[in-house]
Amino acid sequence: MSELWPLPDDPLVGPLEAFAASHRLADRGRELDRRPEFPWAEFRAMGANGWLGLTRPASAGGRGLPLGRAAVLLFRLGRASGTAFAKLSLQPEFASVLGERGAPGLVAEWYAPLLRGERLVGNQITEPGAGSDAGALAMSAERDGEQYRLSGEKSEVAFAADAGAAIVYARTRLPSGRDGISAFLVPQELPGIERSVGPPDLGERWQRRGSVRYRDVRVPIDARLGDEGEGLRYVLPELSRERGLLAAIYLGVARAAWEETVRYVGARVAFHRTLSEQQAVAFPLLDDGARLEATWLFVRRSLERLADGAGAEADTAMAKAMASDVALTTIDHAIQFHGGRGYSGALPHEQRWRDVRSGPIAHGPSELLHRVAARQLWPRGGAGNP
Ligand SMILES: Cc1cc2nc3c(=O)[nH]c(=O)nc-3n(C[C@H](O)[C@H](O)[C@H](O)COP(=O)(O)OP(=O)(O)OC[C@H]3O[C@@H](n4cnc5c(N)ncnc54)[C@H](O)[C@@H]3O)c2cc1C
Repeated sequence: MSELWPLPDDPLVGPLEAFAASHRLADRGRELDRRPEFPWAEFRAMGANGWLGLTRPASAGGRGLPLGRAAVLLFRLGRASGTAFAKLSLQPEFASVLGERGAPGLVAEWYAPLLRGERLVGNQITEPGAGSDAGALAMSAERDGEQYRLSGEKSEVAFAADAGAAIVYARTRLPSGRDGISAFLVPQELPGIERSVGPPDLGERWQRRGSVRYRDVRVPIDARLGDEGEGLRYVLPELSRERGLLAAIYLGVARAAWEETVRYVGARVAFHRTLSEQQAVAFPLLDDGARLEATWLFVRRSLERLADGAGAEADTAMAKAMASDVALTTIDHAIQFHGGRGYSGALPHEQRWRDVRSGPIAHGPSELLHRVAARQLWPRGGAGNP
């Protein structure tokens, strides 16, 4: 590969890539597509080697890396092995409300083992009647003495049957909207919980998404994370961080597809010349390379601004929307320029496309992310606020 758009680098890239190679993460990611299951062995190995919770504080058992360095590592892990293990690396980030707001006993019981890859904690926000619009959540958590009683249904959630516990968002106060929602840590084996895995997804099948029904499930007051009614407020900073970091993963996966395609079209001969000599092939690949690089620079910048406390919610929202869009276009070109084999399971591109296709939906659909960014550009009450 030429020096055009060199890869982002970091002193930890060498050990990370050596780990990915020795645990055959790329092959394992492809197996998980054919036989979806939670990859416990690799998850534990990631925990034991410090690859879970890159940005989480060292005092909590994470690596304590700045967001920008974590983004480089996630880009490289996505490039080396696809989305699965890079996203798993982020699982403690997705559960940061537990780490930051949970009672010490809960943190010791669930968050520390999550960082070691010994226990899995999921996140349950989405409901059949409320996804993008989290202010419309209907699940209730009624105070009853020293307990809360949870009733309702969560849907579309990852690890529906595999998580040992989940951070569950439920309404503790009646006035509707975002204010009455609290977060709880709920072990998933409690009486009254019914879990089911849904039909197979387009990609990322190892997440085994599905529904969880709660029928008068009792949890102690200590299961509440932080204050009553503050649940959605707590999750907002987490969402900003994770969107920027997810963007890095999508770009890394697309970069692998791009590099493989650049090499392939330079060698494949059709009509007595290499495919790279056809402008219709070469020019889109040049555009993809430049767009990947430009989006990567934007992602890095947005995470730096977020780390500086610049309140870059709009930037990281746009970073995820842009990265998933650029990544899908790039991988689509990889499929196209590899011809018939590109469309088949013989090559990794079709799975990459299916896996990355969750990008414009999960962790906030792209339309919603534009809405988040629009609110910053045209503050509430300003003319033209969508
Ligand atoms: C792979 C994957 C993993 C997931 N994991 C989890 C999980 O672990 N926990 C969890 O709680 N949820 C999870 N989800 C669910 C995900 O968060 C929701 O699907 C997402 O928030 C969208 O909600 P919804 O499906 O109800 O769609 P809706 O809110 O009904 O929206 C449908 C579509 O309408 C459009 N739209 C919505 N709002 C607007 C708007 N204001 N303006 C313009 N267009 C709009 C968007 O295109 C959107 O995709 C996961 C989803 C996927 C795909």
